[in-house]
Amino acid sequence: MATLYIVGTPIGNLEDVTLRALRILKEADVILCEDKRVTKRLLDKYEIAGRELATYNEQQSGVASGKIIGWLEEGKNVALVTDAGTPGISDPGSMLVQKVREVLPDAKIESVPGPSALTGALSIAGVPVHDFVFLGFLPHKKGRETLFKEIAMSERTVVFYESPHRILKTLESLEKFAPAKNITIARELTKIHEEVKSGSAEELLKFFKENPDKVRGEFVVIVF
Ligand code: SAM
Repeated sequence: MATLYIVGTPIGNLEDVTLRALRILKEADVILCEDKRVTKRLLDKYEIAGRELATYNEQQSGVASGKIIGWLEEGKNVALVTDAGTPGISDPGSMLVQKVREVLPDAKIESVPGPSALTGALSIAGVPVHDFVFLGFLPHKKGRETLFKEIAMSERTVVFYESPHRILKTLESLEKFAPAKNITIARELTKIHEEVKSGSAEELLKFFKENPDKVRGEFVVIVF
């Protein structure tokens, strides 16, 4: 039986990749990616060529988990990467691991840890992190209001991912339901326009409304 490697890759800055991740990507028989173009940029930078690339996104397209399980049974080592960070953290990676563990309980699945926007943001936010709740992406409709009420009541640090299309809406909800909370927004971590801003939801809303050019990129929201 071969090994399925779950490989962390950069969340922006291509230098944020471990030596082990590069070796495993160099040696893997197949590299499963979310978007081949994104992964190619990393492979090209480190002159990793000649690997078989396949897309994996169980819910959309690409090779199905059945085929990947077949590769593992044939003895092919498979490395799973996603577009950014640690596969499985709010991206398609976790479903494959679940399926492989279900169908091949003895399969070797190894973690090749690397960056994640979650840990990157928490590490620089300056809030208590010994105990936190991670919500991934918030639901767009059902349960959203209840969740904001829970966030307002929480004694723990709460972290979630947000898109530029929804960040203002989310800050409006935080202003309404959690006006007393301190919010930290970590934007574009490890990239040229990296920025961390803290304040009440009202203050941050004002900031982003006055600086619409900053309502861009990728966001992690931390509420404490
Ligand atoms: N698996 C990834 C990880 O380990 O962080 C997360 C994948 S999820 C599909 C993408 C979301 O992560 C983005 O919408 C954003 O909220 C967050 N994210 C990814 N890269 C980021 C960055 N460089 N700065 C801030 N947030 C980022």
